[in-house]
Amino acid sequence: MSLKGRGAVITGGGRGIGKAIARYLAEEGASIVVTARSTDQIEAVAAELRADGFEAQAVTCDVADEEAVQVMADEARGLLGTVDILVNNAGIAPSNPVKRLTLEEWNRVQSINVTGTFLCTRAFLQGMLDRQWGRIINIASVAGLRGSKYISAYCASKHAQIGFTRAVADEVADQGVTVNAICPGYVDTPMTEYSVVQITEKAGVSPEEALQHILATSPQKRLIRPEEIAAVAVMLCRKDGEGISGQAIAIDQGQGNH
Ligand code: NAP
Repeated sequence: MSLKGRGAVITGGGRGIGKAIARYLAEEGASIVVTARSTDQIEAVAAELRADGFEAQAVTCDVADEEAVQVMADEARGLLGTVDILVNNAGIAPSNPVKRLTLEEWNRVQSINVTGTFLCTRAFLQGMLDRQWGRIINIASVAGLRGSKYISAYCASKHAQIGFTRAVADEVADQGVTVNAICPGYVDTPMTEYSVVQITEKAGVSPEEALQHILATSPQKRLIRPEEIAAVAVMLCRKDGEGISGQAIAIDQGQGNH
C-alpha cells in the first residue's frame, strides 16, 4: 500500500490499459478518478473498484477539449484532495495510408493523443510542484519509437508524446516530479480488437488472418496483457521509482531488437 494517501487521475480509464492501471494503483493504496468520454464505462470501472473496497470516482471528460479538462481537473481535485499521479492514457489509433489520410483525421489523432496529454499535464502539474511530489506517466507506444506503415498520424502523435515527456521531465527534474512514457507493443484491449477490424476491412482478410498479421510483429507470438503495463506504471509511482524520469520504457517483448 505504498500509495496510500495519493490521489490518481487516469485518463481513458473506462476500458483496456487505463482500466488495468486504475485497479493496480487502487490496489497499491491510491484514491482513483477515472475519466473518459463514455460515462457508462468509467462509472462501471469506478463502481467495480468501490465494490472491492477501493476509493474510486468517475468524471466524464474529452481530453482534447481545453475547457472540459479544466472542469475535470477541478472536480478531480475536489474528489481526491490532491492529484499526485496523472496517467495520460486516453488515445485513439485509426489507420490509413498517408495518401488517404484526411486533415480532419490527422488533427483528431493529434488533439487527443498529444494535445490531451499536454492539457492534462498542465492542469495538474502546478499542484505536484507545490507539494514537491508527483508522477506523470504517459502511455505512448512502440509507434513513438519507430515508424510503421499505415499509422503515420498515430506514429507522429506518439513520437510527439515522447518528446513532450522528455521535455517536461527535464523542466521539473529537481522538483520532486517524475515524467515517463511507457511504450507498449500490441496489447489485448478493445483498441487492438478495432485494429483487427480495420485490417479485416481494408486488406480483405479474415479476422484470424488479421490477428496473425498483428502477432507477426510479436517475438513472443502473443498480445501483451494490460496488467503488464499497469505493473510498470505502479513501479514508476513507488518511492523506489523516483530515480526514473524522462524515459520511454518499451514493453514490447524485445521487438525493438529485431
Ligand atoms: P482502448 O481500449 O480503445 O481505450 C482507450 C480509452 O481512451 C477509452 O477509455 C476511451 O474512452 C479513452 N479516450 C479516447 N479518446 C478520448 C478522449 N478524447 N478523451 C478522453 N478519453 C478518451 O485503448 P487501449 O488499448 O487501452 O489504449 C490506451 C492507450 O495505450 C492509448 O493511448 C494507446 O495509444 C496506447 N497503446 C495501446 C496499444 C494497444 O495495442 N492496445 C499499444 C500501444 C499503446 P472514450 O472513447 O469513451 O472516450
